[in-house]
Amino acid sequence: MGDRDLRNLPPVHGVIRGLEGYPPSVAREAARVTVEEARNRLLAGEACPTLEQAVAAAADRADSFMASTMTSVINATGVVLHTALGRACLPDAAVENITRVATGYAVLQWDRQAGGRGHRDAHVEKLLTEITGAEAATVANNNAGASLLVLASLAAGREVVVSRGQLVEIGGAFRIPEVMRQSGCTMVEVGCTNRTHLEDYREALSDRTAAIFRVHPSNYRIRGFSGEPSLAELVALGREAGVPVIDDLGAGSLVNLEAFGLPAEPTVQQSIRTGASVVTCSGDKLIGGPQAGILLGLKTYIEKIRKHPLARALRVCKLTLAGLEATLKLFLEDPGYLALHHPVYRMFAGTPGEMADRAAALLERLSLPSGCSGVVEEMGSYVGSGALPDTAIPSAGLSLSCPSPDDLALALRSGSPAVAVRVEGNAVKLDMRTVLPGQEDALALRLNRETERLWG
Ligand SMILES: *Cc1c(COP(=O)(O)O)cnc(C)c1O
Repeated sequence: MGDRDLRNLPPVHGVIRGLEGYPPSVAREAARVTVEEARNRLLAGEACPTLEQAVAAAADRADSFMASTMTSVINATGVVLHTALGRACLPDAAVENITRVATGYAVLQWDRQAGGRGHRDAHVEKLLTEITGAEAATVANNNAGASLLVLASLAAGREVVVSRGQLVEIGGAFRIPEVMRQSGCTMVEVGCTNRTHLEDYREALSDRTAAIFRVHPSNYRIRGFSGEPSLAELVALGREAGVPVIDDLGAGSLVNLEAFGLPAEPTVQQSIRTGASVVTCSGDKLIGGPQAGILLGLKTYIEKIRKHPLARALRVCKLTLAGLEATLKLFLEDPGYLALHHPVYRMFAGTPGEMADRAAALLERLSLPSGCSGVVEEMGSYVGSGALPDTAIPSAGLSLSCPSPDDLALALRSGSPAVAVRVEGNAVKLDMRTVLPGQEDALALRLNRETERLWG
């Protein structure tokens, strides 16, 4: 039984004095909460902490307040573009360009010839048109914003024709019918969930039609008795009727993924070449840059988009443009160069044999308590972010059997660095494809610690 005399409590001001180096408000709050907790414990008959113990407890509290809540994650899920984990790991060149621009002033939208204001698109437009063959390009804060912007700019108050097979939900609150409504256009659905014919589109066209909208279904596939007109057919129909065709590609690859042993995803170049009037895609899916929405196409439409009031609301900052500029430059090179210098493509290019070797090296570093055991086994990685949803990339990793894989997964994601894994059956699965080079030590340390704490 402790001494319940409250006079033994460490004084708040004394604890604050021990918390030098923290912002004053953080020190005050940490000291106040710590002493209050000690007081409650004392009243409950527990031992009273010494001043030294109270300072240590308050420092822990202040540390956890000051730590970044955006804890780093070792991604062992094998999902390369994991939206919850921030999608793409940026190329070094992008990180360097972002840092350079972030730490000082830069020519963001300054026309140095005229000494007046220029346009911030200048930093990426030439690269985008060079890479894709489009006439013009602009950037919004993400592809959801790009879709909203293109529809609002080209079709507000008028009708947009879209196939029922493409009225998808991409994730979160992004649903095509919602975006259409928000943009102020009227959605005209044609066809059925599984099949839409060119004639369905043709019959829906009228003098109220502002555009034909095509959406890449991204995260889902319709199989079996299904079909829809090709982009080429829609473009021909659009030309006949004098209506632009907008192609929302989603992941929007700039390189043929077959060069990395993956099935082909539609590329932006193909859509432009086929004649889409405006193509939109994400900057942080298969381009692997910072979050952005890219709009490319015919100059008349891009200029109209640029002038819409929403373009100002959805514009990107200098950091995004700096990251995107450097990332896009990598796509001027061949796929071999990409595999060396772009983390996303390095991950795609890794062979199952390399992954198995890395998993074996990780297993060597583990000292597991009894009841836990690891084996190297074949696994399937995924591109993520709605690209190639049913293509497993042959991979390998570590399968860790343990008494409770859910408990281990929880412990792994709760610490720092957090570790994201998959749980299958009675095992925790760690796919090495998405574990960055150099993260093996930290990963082994977390695995050893958590298995020891749970079952040692
Ligand atoms: C992912 C996706 C979007 C949304 O893109 P964000 O960049 O995440 O906003 C829109 N349309 C399609 C077809 C997509 O796949």
